[in-house]
Amino acid sequence: MTDCDHKATKDGFAKRKFLGETFRAKASVCKSCGAELWDHDVQGKFNGWLTKLHSRKRGKFQIQPLFSANVRACLKKMALEFPGSKDSSIVRAMTFLYLEAGQDRVLLRDMESIFISDTFIMLRSGKKASLPVGFNPMGILAIHGWGELTGVPPAKVVEEATLRVLAVYLAVDEKGRKIWAEVKEELTRLLRAA
Ligand SMILES: [Zn+2]
Repeated sequence: MTDCDHKATKDGFAKRKFLGETFRAKASVCKSCGAELWDHDVQGKFNGWLTKLHSRKRGKFQIQPLFSANVRACLKKMALEFPGSKDSSIVRAMTFLYLEAGQDRVLLRDMESIFISDTFIMLRSGKKASLPVGFNPMGILAIHGWGELTGVPPAKVVEEATLRVLAVYLAVDEKGRKIWAEVKEELTRLLRAA
């Protein structure tokens, strides 16, 4: 199937299961291997379908990451650095930052260098409770895309992103403070855009 160049096509349907709903639109399908050809037109229809779904069923765009009491306490403290922002908005901004950093690489490498296992153990330990965080269609697509790429479920993507950024926030050495200044600036930008 990987060698097929999808030369000959016929009319068919493109289908995608997403957030428990099924998207279906007319599309060209390869005659020999049956692959659905997702061109701009189909992609545009999918985006339109997702936007409508977002306005009808907002709850499906909510992700429920599980956070320990330590994480929640840390988020409360961190929120003071972003006046007027709710914890959930900050988690959303941290998730975007983490996904963006994955493309940028430099910031991600800086963030990963702050990997302090004691901090991670502290943040992960204890009883966990969920914090609902709502995302827009673009955000939810990015999270699912990242999750599919890495084999990580959406809630875990958000948890992982939050712990990474919190580890930078909690770092006390000079290098950590420097990276935090950069991260804080990015988070401020993301919170303003939301
Ligand atoms: Zn084909």
